[in-house]
Amino acid sequence: MHNKPYESKHLDRMRNIVMPKDHKLTHTRREFLSASVTVPATLAFASVLGIQTQVPEVRATPACGEGGARTPAQTEGPYFKPTSPLRTSLLEPGMPGTRVVVEGSVLTTDCRPIPHALVDFWQADDRGQYDNAGYRLRGHQFTDDTGHYRLETIVPALYPGRTRHIHVKVQAPNQPVLTTQLYFPGESANQRDVIFNPDLVMQVHNVEGGKLATFDFVLDVRSSGSRRSGT
Ligand code: FE
Repeated sequence: MHNKPYESKHLDRMRNIVMPKDHKLTHTRREFLSASVTVPATLAFASVLGIQTQVPEVRATPACGEGGARTPAQTEGPYFKPTSPLRTSLLEPGMPGTRVVVEGSVLTTDCRPIPHALVDFWQADDRGQYDNAGYRLRGHQFTDDTGHYRLETIVPALYPGRTRHIHVKVQAPNQPVLTTQLYFPGESANQRDVIFNPDLVMQVHNVEGGKLATFDFVLDVRSSGSRRSGT
């Protein structure tokens, strides 16, 4: 996957941000963070585009190909509901809150994309409330043929005891479920939340109309030929 020179890849990424319909983010967060430190000219380019670059977190999230690193699991919490609707947008008419697109890939630890992986999101609304009676701000989708997912939603509010987060379950076909949570960078409450894990911080940019957040899930998929199948 590292067959393009950095400069070209970075320009591709900028185009992805400006034109989110053409999204196919193929860069790991670690690549982006390290590149951001070493190539200031491209940061200037980002600034021209009005993109706010992020101060790197304490460490980058685990990326595929890094010694078997995988996305860590986290508690499901009290608000998961099964059988969420199949949908890629959790937005509803009149729903308040800052719009955010969350997107990325589901990958194996050796960087193979996982098509048809289940990605099931649930989150609080802009007042920190979960819908436990219905399915507001709940939805699942499946990665496409390139292992990509894309969610349209709002930025959840904090609620007592927790920093800002989105819950998610990820499951490759015929594999165990990974339950985890995604976090936002630069939140002061991250440091006060005992559940918070910096490995699960998304890369977030301000874009016209809201935010663009990216995160690649890395799953430890058992490579048994008999278990591989689509859904
Ligand atoms: Fe929660």
